[in-house]
Amino acid sequence: MDLSPGISYFVGQLGKAFFAPGSHASLLSLAGAFLIAFAFLTLRRYRKGRRIRLKALLRALFPRHVVTSKSSLADLGYFYFNIFLFGLIFGWALLSYEVLSHSVADLLTAMFGPRQPTSLPPLVTRAVMTVTLFLAYELGYWLNHYLSHRVPFLWEFHKVHHSATVLTPLTNFRVHPVYMCIFLNILAVFTGLASGVGEYAFGQTTHQFGLSENNIILVFFIYLYVHLQHTELWISFTGWLGRLFMSPAHHQIHHSRHPDHFNKNLGSCLALWDWMFGTLYVPSAEPEKLEFGVEPDREHAHTIRGEFIAPFGRAARLLTPLIGRRSPEVPAPDNVVVRR
Ligand SMILES: [Zn+2]
Ligand SMILES: [Zn+2]
Repeated sequence: MDLSPGISYFVGQLGKAFFAPGSHASLLSLAGAFLIAFAFLTLRRYRKGRRIRLKALLRALFPRHVVTSKSSLADLGYFYFNIFLFGLIFGWALLSYEVLSHSVADLLTAMFGPRQPTSLPPLVTRAVMTVTLFLAYELGYWLNHYLSHRVPFLWEFHKVHHSATVLTPLTNFRVHPVYMCIFLNILAVFTGLASGVGEYAFGQTTHQFGLSENNIILVFFIYLYVHLQHTELWISFTGWLGRLFMSPAHHQIHHSRHPDHFNKNLGSCLALWDWMFGTLYVPSAEPEKLEFGVEPDREHAHTIRGEFIAPFGRAARLLTPLIGRRSPEVPAPDNVVVRR
């Protein structure tokens, strides 16, 4: 049996994930996050007049309870699944951004007449497209996340991400494939729509500025603070900055078990859409004591059975009354918790 195509696929995926500079998991961006965290902790200790010792800093960056947690191990499992297997298993279920974009441009042409080529310099049109697509990405992210919290069926799949009891940059990848599928399709619709409108407005296909096929503004935020959102480092933006940008503390609030924090801060890099739609919770400048996780002591927590298979069963049980197999008066299963 020839294993070489399989091996080259795995090596290729690994290379793309770790070495493509615009990847969500690039080693370069993780090193950047490490340096920012290191500088932040050093400065904090300096300001408090405490001694700056390498050992203490490393202990703060890699707390023992986080490194040895079962939750972190489950994050690692999902990381491998999403890097290597997601595309193979679910890739076919995704809408095409290009097809949508051209269809929207064709529809606008049919409605408002032929496209007129723009006289604007390419640099300007590409910059406009880059900002537009980034805002469309953020809006699509916000809507998918909002629905994942508000629709009980979708929450069963998103709950996997919230069942992490400690946060590490790998928690970013702890997402169920069903959540991922819906997310990528919603994203294709939003960015496809934005790109189609741009194609019509500028009279031609205009590409964004990107790095490794990712929007350059998104890559900038990946390097700046996206990794730090899944850590326990309280780096918070307050005031107007806190209304525009999703600091690490904003996202830690999103993972908090305190009811005041439920369904808040649903954006990715920006807090802007949360601010506009009333789901923003600006964290305080001083660290807030938070606990993370959903039903952390439940059976099979952090296992393949609990985090991968069980959501299908729980979600299906929520659907059965709707399709008439069970009478509507049968109560929902006890373990269904919806964040309202
Ligand atoms: Zn969430
Ligand atoms: Zn998260």
